[in-house]
Amino acid sequence: MKFRLGTALTGALLLGALPAFTESDPDLSARHVAAAEAAAGDELAHVLGHCSKIGKSFTIPHDKGHEMLERLIGKGDPRTTAVFDNLIFLGTAWVTAWAIPTSDGIILIDALNNEDEAKRYIEGGLRDIGLDPVDIKKIVVSHAHGDHYGGAVYLKDKYGAEIIMSETDWQELEKDELQFDDPLWGRPPQRDVSVGDGATVTLGDTTITLLETPGHTPGTLSTIVPVTDDGELHKAIIWGGNGLNFGPDAGRFVQMIDSQRRLAAMAREEGFDVFLSNHKTLDGTYTKLDAMEAGAEGNPFVIGSDKVERAFTALSHCVAAQLASFDPEAVPAD
Ligand SMILES: [Zn+2]
Repeated sequence: MKFRLGTALTGALLLGALPAFTESDPDLSARHVAAAEAAAGDELAHVLGHCSKIGKSFTIPHDKGHEMLERLIGKGDPRTTAVFDNLIFLGTAWVTAWAIPTSDGIILIDALNNEDEAKRYIEGGLRDIGLDPVDIKKIVVSHAHGDHYGGAVYLKDKYGAEIIMSETDWQELEKDELQFDDPLWGRPPQRDVSVGDGATVTLGDTTITLLETPGHTPGTLSTIVPVTDDGELHKAIIWGGNGLNFGPDAGRFVQMIDSQRRLAAMAREEGFDVFLSNHKTLDGTYTKLDAMEAGAEGNPFVIGSDKVERAFTALSHCVAAQLASFDPEAVPAD
């Protein structure tokens, strides 16, 4: 009798402690996938990654993480290109660094995986395009993951560039254990310049704005960059982090949905007409570079604020669809 009572109690406690893992609402997921597909249309299908494999695991096992990283870093295939007068793509087939040349030096957004990539793709890429890496003055790190900060310490040591990150994500790097770590990544930088939501960074004639858009990490920064195309002004938004690799933490999913909805609304209000990411699969960079090389009319990176809004709307619906797979009650109303 005692044993049975104990078993029943244990069962009840488990059920009480883990309701989130036992529920899913496939209809709600399907509604959000449909809404995401409607928002994306054919032209923005590259933003729909999270709409596949609904209910996938959101945790990367450590041993698999290393293998995956090795494979992703090995993809290489850099395609350094000036996509605007003042915005240079320095990325590879996996992860992207953007360079913003100004009248007083270069602002870098993200620093790739490690020193080797910083040498080959950032220094090498800048030289290929006729710029001098000695002019790198500021490095904005979008968030506290090694594929974005890995080359930062090398560039700071060599050129004295300052490293800018959100206060929230500096604190992530100061924890006893990093969310992810791997010997393939350069060591995390020591705390340098700390910013919050809405901070501006000015170098020479250029001012960029940093928005704290939490979700992927607690302090992910997205960046607004005024860019020009043959002198014509456009406004780019670089979305700072989209992976759902932090476990089934409903609060973080909701944060990400809120961030994406905020940027969808801002796209209209602020006139963002260029949607970029720090991973080329999400913003379709290589497809757009192909179009540029094929002599496309106009700049393929200028998609208009309606499409930028739709991209963020689609992203938010895919995250909602995934959230509905383990905690449907947490999915915010539209
Ligand atoms: Zn990340």
